[in-house]
Amino acid sequence: MPLAVELIAVGTELLLGQLTDTNTVFVAQSLATAGIDVYGTHAIGDNRSRIVSAMRAALERVDGVITTGGLGPTVDDLTKEAASDALGLDLELHEPSLKQMQDFFAHIGREMRENNRKQAYVPRGSLVLENPRGTAPGFVAFDSSGKFIACMPGVPREMKPMLTELLIPFLRERYAIVDGIYTRVLHTVNLGESEIDHRIDDLFRAGENPKIAVLAHEGLCDVKIMAKARSAQEAQTLLAPVEAQVRERLDGFIFGADDTTLAAAVHALLQPNGKTIAVAESCTGGRIAAALTAVPGSSRSFLGGIVAYDNAVKIAELGVSETTLERFGAVSEEAAIEMARGARERLGTSYAIATTGIAGPDGGTAEKPVGLVWFATDVEGEMHTYQFNFRGDRDAVQRRASVMALGLVWRLLSRRFS
Ligand code: ATP
Ligand code: MG
Repeated sequence: MPLAVELIAVGTELLLGQLTDTNTVFVAQSLATAGIDVYGTHAIGDNRSRIVSAMRAALERVDGVITTGGLGPTVDDLTKEAASDALGLDLELHEPSLKQMQDFFAHIGREMRENNRKQAYVPRGSLVLENPRGTAPGFVAFDSSGKFIACMPGVPREMKPMLTELLIPFLRERYAIVDGIYTRVLHTVNLGESEIDHRIDDLFRAGENPKIAVLAHEGLCDVKIMAKARSAQEAQTLLAPVEAQVRERLDGFIFGADDTTLAAAVHALLQPNGKTIAVAESCTGGRIAAALTAVPGSSRSFLGGIVAYDNAVKIAELGVSETTLERFGAVSEEAAIEMARGARERLGTSYAIATTGIAGPDGGTAEKPVGLVWFATDVEGEMHTYQFNFRGDRDAVQRRASVMALGLVWRLLSRRFS
């Protein structure tokens, strides 16, 4: 039986733009994976009657409503009261939850306040969703026609396990949902969205299951292959042939799958080959080093870097010549080369990558516009340089340049080692 729901995130902070609604993203993704359709998402403030009307309106359209937030002990936590209004069900004390809450407070050594008691009440006849990580239990309450409102706490570390371990299994069982969506993501670098589209166009059109989607972000492009299947095994059977075809068409550009990052892919090529890398960063301000060190175990292949922002630092710490800076400027191919060489030699690595560019918003000229970035890679003494013009604001130029730098290194390495 298909199941369609709408999501309501409760909290005035969401409407004031003070809190990013990551709960909805997580819930929507998890439900999609579990084969439960989401037909709408909403954010509502801490206002009882507005929550009630949002719930009622949603129940007109779909089988159930799933909420996050507003289950706490304070006066502005009103979701449970709203659910009880919307369904016409009284609140009743759920003894085991009260007991669990008392134990919880005893455990953390704090006195339980009277207002916490309110959290142990749920709409009559609810299925209670335990919350071992906090105080407020979640619940699923039903109206006479079998439609439901499921409420979970707002705190992500309490909500997430409640959703995946309790609510989703319950709903899949109750609605006899057997299919789930299984996704394989192939990450590419140095290949535009339209080029990918062109190369796999026919695969796109070929099938409903699995489906393919191309998603560009941060200078990278992902190909998502999604299969609807009853089990991971069945999904694998559906995904594998399409994945093989996509890999063949995009050969040389795929740096990893699923959770692999570009920096992790760089380390994965360096480490088995006993190679190391250093960075010399001007316009990227340390972002390449940050990305490389975000990978566990990175110390085996990333030795360090120099953020050489001022010319004096480029000269003193990287050995860039004053004459080069005077003749060609700090944003130049020549400066990038000397920066990369300086980093590799001074840090004693196999490779180095250098960046120097104009991140903006000021400092651009007709000859050297904002967004111009020079890169140099030093591969055991062999130099390569690249020039790109990135669009966007300062942050975008810095982010894209960092991704590009890692992409250039990955490509050099993958040509050598794979
Ligand atoms: P509490 O017992 O802490 O009051 P609650 O269930 O009442 O929990 P809220 O008061 O709505 O939940 O939110 C508590 C905190 O959880 C927020 O301050 C915020 O940090 C986080 N949170 C709430 N809703 C969201 C959301 N939609 N996305 C991301 N984080 C959220
Ligand atoms: Mg609260």
